[in-house]
Amino acid sequence: MSNKKNGSSVGLILGLIIIVGGALFVYSSAMFERVTPEVKVQSNGYWNLKKPLKVEISDESGVISYKVKLVTKEKSVDLLYEKLITAKKSISLEVEPPRSTYSIKDKKIKIVVEAQDISKWNYLKGNSTAKVIDLVIDKRRPQLSIVSNSYKISRGGSALVIFKAEDENIKELYIEGNHDKKFKPQPFYKDGYYISLLAWPVADPSFKATVIATDMAGNIAKAYVPLYLKNKEYRVSNIKLSDKFLKGKIADLAEEFSQTQGVEGPLEQFKVINEDVRAKNEQLIHELSSKVKDERVKRFKMNKMYPLKNAQVVAHFGDHRKYYYNGNYISESYHLGLDLASNAMATIKPQNAGEVVFSDYNGLYGNMPMIYHGLGLYTLYGHCSSVKVGSGDSVLKNEVIANTGKSGYAMGDHLHFGVLVQGIEVRPQEWMDSQWMKLNIDNVIKNAKETIDRN
Ligand SMILES: [Zn+2]
Repeated sequence: MSNKKNGSSVGLILGLIIIVGGALFVYSSAMFERVTPEVKVQSNGYWNLKKPLKVEISDESGVISYKVKLVTKEKSVDLLYEKLITAKKSISLEVEPPRSTYSIKDKKIKIVVEAQDISKWNYLKGNSTAKVIDLVIDKRRPQLSIVSNSYKISRGGSALVIFKAEDENIKELYIEGNHDKKFKPQPFYKDGYYISLLAWPVADPSFKATVIATDMAGNIAKAYVPLYLKNKEYRVSNIKLSDKFLKGKIADLAEEFSQTQGVEGPLEQFKVINEDVRAKNEQLIHELSSKVKDERVKRFKMNKMYPLKNAQVVAHFGDHRKYYYNGNYISESYHLGLDLASNAMATIKPQNAGEVVFSDYNGLYGNMPMIYHGLGLYTLYGHCSSVKVGSGDSVLKNEVIANTGKSGYAMGDHLHFGVLVQGIEVRPQEWMDSQWMKLNIDNVIKNAKETIDRN
């Protein structure tokens, strides 16, 4: 009796061990994993029914089947279905839109991704998932049209463009210039209209401007700005470096900059100052002058610029300067402003109000205030002896902001007058010419407003 009882106990325990062990095996085994497949859809919530949708399905034990459906109010269309022979741990899909997209009238649809894994869990049926993604359908490209623009642009010069851009889901709007430059337009006058100044960099042999609009669904529209290109010639000057200049101004400047520390020899120092120091100074100027505000432009009226009274031009904008010593080429640079001189320490009075965005020492430019006038237009004043305004100040028309001098890389007392459009130096002479401003800025704005008011 006792033996039999013992025997049945052993049997019972063994049975329990098998059941518990089996349960534990099932519970911990990869064969019986209980995690549903993971579905990822690369989407920002919009689809143009043109580009394929990227879908990733992954699972620990492996995906054995999947289905992708497009569900509208009326119907459900299978876009993809596959039952695999061998399960895969991860699957990348490019789901093409249905062939007849014109039949899809809904603005909002659902994409349903169903997937099943090969796990033996769930009475051998495996784990399944059905992920639902809501998408806004946008098949239409943004609508772009040029309303008004300057008739021409000169090499090194400025132009203005006003255009209309319409789209419910606009993502990015800009004007592509040279070197992938993106001019940022500002809203103009009434809803749907935009305005931007453009600039043709003086060192570039040609120029092209294209308005580009993209929407959330990836539709792209482009409108070419029809500008007549005037290839203005600029002077190339061959300049002989004198020992007096190298041992005087250059030796003095070399002590000042971190880039010239440890650089021996006046020619090497000159090269570093003319190239490395200049590049750093210009980079700061470009950064400061690239900023454009988002606010709507209702009016933009600039007065003819003439920051220095009774001044003479002592160096032109765009001069391509090549430097030689004893007949050997040393370095080169572009002069990106207009040099004006009158009396020593003459007062500098800009004719346009603005906001001071910088007022400090900037290497070769010496003491340099810089003013923002709106619409991405900036002016800068180099080599000043003293500056009367600080960063953040508002300045009025004809307010004295500084006195001329020879701080930085300047031989005699003068003003280096710079004008920039969204980070690009432009020909100051255009902004000093009332006829040019009337034709290229004021009339373009006037024409645009008339056109907009008629619509
Ligand atoms: Zn200059």
